[in-house]
Amino acid sequence: MNKPLLSGLAVAALMAAGSAQAEQTFISIGTGGVTGVYYPAGGAICRLANRDRAEHGIRCGVESTGGSIFNINALRSGELEFGVAQSDWQFHAYNGTSRFEDDGPFEELRAVFSLHPEPFTVVARADAGITSFEDLAGKRVNIGNPGSGQRGTMEVVMEVMGWDMDTFSVVSELQAGEQAQALCDNNIDAMVYTVGHPSGAIQEATTACDTVLVNVDNDAVRALVEERDYYRMATIPGGMYRGTDEDVTTFGVGATFVTSANVPEEVVYQVTRAIFENLDTFRGLHPALGTLDPAEMVADGLSAPLHEGAARYFSEAGLMD
Ligand code: GLU
Repeated sequence: MNKPLLSGLAVAALMAAGSAQAEQTFISIGTGGVTGVYYPAGGAICRLANRDRAEHGIRCGVESTGGSIFNINALRSGELEFGVAQSDWQFHAYNGTSRFEDDGPFEELRAVFSLHPEPFTVVARADAGITSFEDLAGKRVNIGNPGSGQRGTMEVVMEVMGWDMDTFSVVSELQAGEQAQALCDNNIDAMVYTVGHPSGAIQEATTACDTVLVNVDNDAVRALVEERDYYRMATIPGGMYRGTDEDVTTFGVGATFVTSANVPEEVVYQVTRAIFENLDTFRGLHPALGTLDPAEMVADGLSAPLHEGAARYFSEAGLMD
C-alpha cells in the first residue's frame, strides 16, 4: 500500500536534487590546521549551509590551509570564496598596513560575522625553564608558518619587545598542526598559536608530554592592547589543559568569517542565514564555539565593511538596524 507513495516521494526528491544540481554553486572556506579551531568551525559552517542545499544549490567545502594570512590572500586572488581570519589581519588587509603594506589595501575584503576569541597562546616544555613570555629569549621557538595569523601577530609582539630572529637560539616555521609533536620530540622549547580554546593542538601538546601554558603579560604587550582596537587582554582558564592549573593571562584577537565583494549577495545571505537560524546547533559543533553571542557576532572585530548578503540577513533578522 505504501510502496507507490514512497517511490513517488523518492522520484520527487530525485527531481529536486536534479534541478538543484543543474544550478549548483561551489564555495570553499579556507581555514587552518586540522587540529586548530578554524578547520572544525569551517566544517560546522558548511554542514549547516549544506543542509538546505536542495533549496539554494550551494555546495560548501572546507580546506585546511596555513591560516589567516593565506586565507585572505586566497580571497584576494579568487581562489577561495570564504575564509576564517584573525581580526587583526582582517584590519590590516583592508587597510593595506603591516603585512599587507606591499600589496596595498584589499578593498573588496568583506566581513560576514565574527566567531570565537583567540588568545595568543604560548606552550613551553616543562623542562625548558620558561615561566613567562620574556623567557623565550635564547630558546628554540616555533614562530609559525608565514601564512598563519600567529606568525604575523608574533612579529608584532617581537617588534614591541625589541626582539628579532637572533633573540632565539633556533627559530622554526612549522605549520600549526606540526608544532605539538615538535615540542614533544624536544625539537623546540616553545610554540605559539593564536587559537580558540579548547583546541586539539593545545590538547595534544599538553597531554603527549609535560608542558605549561605561559603568561604573555608585560608592559609592552599591555601598551599594544591599549593602542590597538583589535587586541584585548585574554584569559585561558586554569584547569582546561593538563599541566596548567592557574589561569593564564595573555592578549588576544577574535576569529572572523570573511569573504570578498565578488562573492554573490545571495550566496553570502544563504550561508549567514544557515548559521544564525541554527545557532544552537552551531554552538554545539565545537566547544570553542559554545559561547557565541549573536549581538557580538554581528559587530565585534569586523573592520572591513559587512558583505551586503550578511547585512541583508542581519537587518531582516532584526540583528542590526
Ligand atoms: N589563528 C590562526 C591563524 O590565523 C588559526 C587558528 C585555528 O586554526 O584555529 O592562522
